[in-house]
Amino acid sequence: MRILVTGAAGFLGSHLCDRLLSLGHRVVGMDNFVTGNRTNLDHLKSHSSFQLILHDVANFIEVEGPLEGVFHFASPASPVDYLELPIQTLKVGSLGTHKALGLSKAKGARFLLASTSEVYGDPLVHPQPESYWGNVNPVGPRGVYDEAKRFAEAMTMAYHRYHNLDTRIVRIFNTYGPRMRPHDGRVVSNFIVQALRGEPLTVYGDGSQTRSFCYVDDLVEGIVRLFERGGPEPTNIGNPHEFTVRQLAELVLRLTNGRSAIVKQPLPTDDPKVRQPDIRRARETLGWEPTVTLEDGLRRTIEYFRGHMA
Ligand code: NAD
Ligand code: UDP
Repeated sequence: MRILVTGAAGFLGSHLCDRLLSLGHRVVGMDNFVTGNRTNLDHLKSHSSFQLILHDVANFIEVEGPLEGVFHFASPASPVDYLELPIQTLKVGSLGTHKALGLSKAKGARFLLASTSEVYGDPLVHPQPESYWGNVNPVGPRGVYDEAKRFAEAMTMAYHRYHNLDTRIVRIFNTYGPRMRPHDGRVVSNFIVQALRGEPLTVYGDGSQTRSFCYVDDLVEGIVRLFERGGPEPTNIGNPHEFTVRQLAELVLRLTNGRSAIVKQPLPTDDPKVRQPDIRRARETLGWEPTVTLEDGLRRTIEYFRGHMA
């Protein structure tokens, strides 16, 4: 297949490009580098099946030649990034998704939307099955990301129902691994960088809030299976093992042999108190479940950061 990946220079987009190329597909990467990093794609510069286009996907997207698949991953994803880029985040989730869907329709390509566990907001149902509609504050600071993704899901379903487009929606839960930016502000990269530098680990609030962390290779495997043999209904992909943020801080300190203190900082507005995916749908329809433990995944990620910190 010839496949377009938007957000190709980002953390997940770059891993996805690698995986699609290893499966023998031709890949067109597209990015405007607003939160991505060109170096994530440096190793593909001379790959004969890879091409990179600089473009803001909130504007009309032109790709010459056939396309059989579109993976729409472009969007700031770290809370720090989308709070700094609120309008770009709303635009890429709404206008960008519309453009990417229009391109898929014109090319007759299968479309996969990178959605998020944030569509569940600060959830009142735990763990979160896909049938849960969520508890989102549309006018809070995180609304720019959550509502853009909810709109993107609605737009994707409309193209599926009205235009008969072959679509997929993956709801991605917190994912970590090599190629996260050291300063992108997400908890795993923050704690690792702080521990390696001997700086205090910044736990927001009392650290009792929970997240469930998925290693990037597990996530990409689930997404490829969803693309190949999933259905149009949203599918959670994430690791169901749930940890408090404080437990994560302690584990990172242990694995880095770090001696930093753990300090408290204010909890951001509307920070979800709990998050854990119900992955029954992915298990049943894709035969997928994660295989990398948090400890193993963190070891690999720590190795990456040791080699990539300025
Ligand atoms: P990232 O910030 O590393 O990558 C996003 C990429 O999109 C960047 O390279 C950025 O430059 C690009 N981009 C942003 N706006 C663009 C635009 N208008 N035009 C072209 N390119 C644009 O983030 P990530 O963690 O790789 O996330 C990728 C996708 O997965 C996002 O859609 C995000 O919402 C989703 N997601 C990620 C996670 C996670 O834990 N990493 C969780 C849920 C959902
Ligand atoms: N967090 C933290 N310290 C940090 C960064 C984040 O305690 O230095 C917390 C944050 O408040 C949230 C959790 O870690 O409760 C996960 O944050 P992240 O930004 O990684 O993603 P989120 O799941 O909130 O989108």
